[in-house]
Amino acid sequence: MILLITRRRFFGQSFGITTGAVLARSLGLKTGSFGIRAAGRTGSTPMIITSHPNPTGQAALEEVWDTLAAGGSALDAVERATNIIELDPEDMSVGYGGLPNEDGVVQLDASIMDGRTYNAGAVAGIENIKHPSSVARLVMERTDHVMLAADGAKEFALSFGFPEEDLMTEKSRRAWLRWREEHSDRDDWGPPDHLRGWEDEQGRGIPEAAGDREAFLRGPELSTHGTVNVLAVDARGDIAGITSTSGMSWKVPGRIGDSPIIGAGLYVDNEVGAAGATGRGEDVIKACSSFYIVSRMREGRSPQEACEDALRQIDARYAAVGIDFRPGEKFVAINRDGDYGCAWNIGEGPPAMSVMDTAEGYRRHEGVNTTG
Ligand code: ASP
Repeated sequence: MILLITRRRFFGQSFGITTGAVLARSLGLKTGSFGIRAAGRTGSTPMIITSHPNPTGQAALEEVWDTLAAGGSALDAVERATNIIELDPEDMSVGYGGLPNEDGVVQLDASIMDGRTYNAGAVAGIENIKHPSSVARLVMERTDHVMLAADGAKEFALSFGFPEEDLMTEKSRRAWLRWREEHSDRDDWGPPDHLRGWEDEQGRGIPEAAGDREAFLRGPELSTHGTVNVLAVDARGDIAGITSTSGMSWKVPGRIGDSPIIGAGLYVDNEVGAAGATGRGEDVIKACSSFYIVSRMREGRSPQEACEDALRQIDARYAAVGIDFRPGEKFVAINRDGDYGCAWNIGEGPPAMSVMDTAEGYRRHEGVNTTG
């Protein structure tokens, strides 16, 4: 899902702590059994969510649901669901069709974490492989490492039989070509200066590589952000998660975002729950946001409250150094009871996510926009 990022004024907000829930957790008690379950949407297990509220997100959850509901593992469910999203050519922020770096090269980041085994895997800056999340799973299961990057990650994937493929679609290539010509008035891309807008007496201008010039310059609706998080709890209570992305579009070649970094773009703890991040990775890395969200849930916060806490934590850090800057993140989280939540500090309306569980089936859930 492409997110529209805008800078926003900082609104100071204080944190609140559900002390009763903290006490109950520290005593090893389920908060729900005291009727003091922390605020936020409650669910049931098994369950699976994705940060994608769009039809592909829904299709991905529906595709894996029967197996998960029948006792399949959370780990398999998140991988299969993510694979479907990675293949969506219309999704310009994940896998095939994801927007490239400034050189026009698609570099993908992904991570996976298995709460049952306290194991994790990741790939960073991998090129020409459609399913970085599955490569991340192999790093987790077939090596004693957590992360492989760039050519090493690609060679590793090829050795396991992943095909080497062009990840650019016609749409993403046109978007990149347009960006290359329009992003700066100090480079030499685009028609020569003396021929910009030039037409001959028949009204014909400089032919564009991608056809009609107006359509070329208009291009698809664009943003520079987007990622998918998929989190699940299975019938045994095991929790797993994946984050997969093409990262920020037009990024400096070699730039790695938060998505492959365990604790930043993803964190899973079988005793507590899981969290995933989308948005400006630089902020998520510095704040260790997914780990922070899971830590807040361990203290008794609901997934919804913990996501909001993480946004306020980032805002507070910038405010502390006097910077009036709201960078733009979206967080999703679940806990082991099947409660879920999401929050962002982006755009005008609330964020949304896809949720599927036994109690209610599929629904699109709206969370909280912390900008008020
Ligand atoms: N978090 C991703 C990154 O920084 C991109 C995004 O989700 O917008 O690479």
